[in-house]
Amino acid sequence: MAAKGNVVFDSECCKGCELCVNVCPVSIIELAPGLNSKGYHFSRIKEGSKEKCIACGFCGMTCPDFVIRVERL
Ligand code: SF4
Ligand code: SF4
Repeated sequence: MAAKGNVVFDSECCKGCELCVNVCPVSIIELAPGLNSKGYHFSRIKEGSKEKCIACGFCGMTCPDFVIRVERL
């Protein structure tokens, strides 16, 4: 199945609060084990899960720091 959305993260602005992780209805967002330059684990799409995105946009709407942009394909 082709991905419905392309999710773009401005990782340097992420503070690792996990709101996006918890709101994604298909559970494809995770925090990376690595840290950004501010010392936070940053969110990303789980490896191999991009096709599962339904482009609902909830992650982008939920992030208080405008880290996420959802492009509908
Ligand atoms: S757009 Fe929706 S399905 Fe896609 S990663 Fe964000 S919350 Fe999950
Ligand atoms: S909601 Fe925003 S700041 Fe919080 S983990 Fe997700 S992308 Fe990072």
